[in-house]
Amino acid sequence: METLKLAVSKTEYQNSINTAAEILKNGGVVGMPTETVYGLAASAYDDKAIKKVFEAKGRPQDNPLIVHISDMEMLNEVAEDIPEIVYTLAEKFWPGPLTMVLHRTAKIAESVSAGLLTVAVRMPSSKIALDVISKSGLPLAAPSANVSGRPSPTTASHVVNDLDGKIDAVLMGEDSDFGVESTVITLVGETPILLRPGAVTYEQLLKFLPNLEISDAVLNELKAGDRAESPGMKYKHYAPKTTAFLVEGEGFADFVNKQENAVAVCFMEEAGSIKIPKLIYGSADDKLSLAHSIFGVLREVDKFGAERVFIHAPEKEGVGLAVYNRLIRAAAFKVINI
Ligand code: AMP
Ligand code: MG
Repeated sequence: METLKLAVSKTEYQNSINTAAEILKNGGVVGMPTETVYGLAASAYDDKAIKKVFEAKGRPQDNPLIVHISDMEMLNEVAEDIPEIVYTLAEKFWPGPLTMVLHRTAKIAESVSAGLLTVAVRMPSSKIALDVISKSGLPLAAPSANVSGRPSPTTASHVVNDLDGKIDAVLMGEDSDFGVESTVITLVGETPILLRPGAVTYEQLLKFLPNLEISDAVLNELKAGDRAESPGMKYKHYAPKTTAFLVEGEGFADFVNKQENAVAVCFMEEAGSIKIPKLIYGSADDKLSLAHSIFGVLREVDKFGAERVFIHAPEKEGVGLAVYNRLIRAAAFKVINI
């Protein structure tokens, strides 16, 4: 199939939104920018359309999708038994990068929830995403618009590189603001649990959810037989083809300078001391800069044709936890302490 590239400059904007909405209403799939990463959207009510999303991505069928809404009325269409705290959190963090797992309504296509009785919901802040949702009148299930296992797409060209010819259209918007996927929390159990860290931080959420727990799977590899609270966390993810290692501790530059046939992914502050091929992913002190660049940098690693890539781990505070969580998966949990 030919993938339409929908321009979003001023003159083409409304036409492109209308075209995307029509495609979605007719059961098609569309790549669209959001403030976190690019999503691959389809109607959350249309089981056949959702199956196309899984197919285009090569996503395992047991990994459920996040449903994107444009207003609070839509929340009642997709979720039920909604606890009061959801409205407090929505007031504070929506539209924005917070996803809440709630009980689902019967309207949601089975494949969205991958057989679970819950649904993950968020209201994005990206204008394009909000306009597509409200124009189509549909809640949109939208996982990251990458081939499963690859780094998530943060530019329109990442989406085209991964999915050209496999999806109906891509809205060719700007680069994603945050660059890492949304924070996911579940509110269906006795205690709230952080399932995936993102730009809304654990520290920010604690003010509203003082008993918020962090799922073991955020920083640890699930053992065979462990039950995944969030199925997505059991998969290898975000990986370059080059074998990746996450490196912690003092003396990163000295460590990588001794390595042969290797690339370093480092902070701006240390780049001058690194003598092997390197990619800079931001400032150690500015975790948002690291989040913004990390997936783009992971996509560039392979062009060096090196055997191994050593990635300097960020501190795990604030948005650093989200970046660390993605990197430890990109490295398939291979961590080196120097
Ligand atoms: P992605 O769509 O690629 O951003 O991934 C969505 C993430 O949300 C994955 O880690 C899923 O496992 C998680 N998720 C989606 N729906 C649910 C749900 N109903 N319960 C728990 N986790 C979910
Ligand atoms: Mg993804």
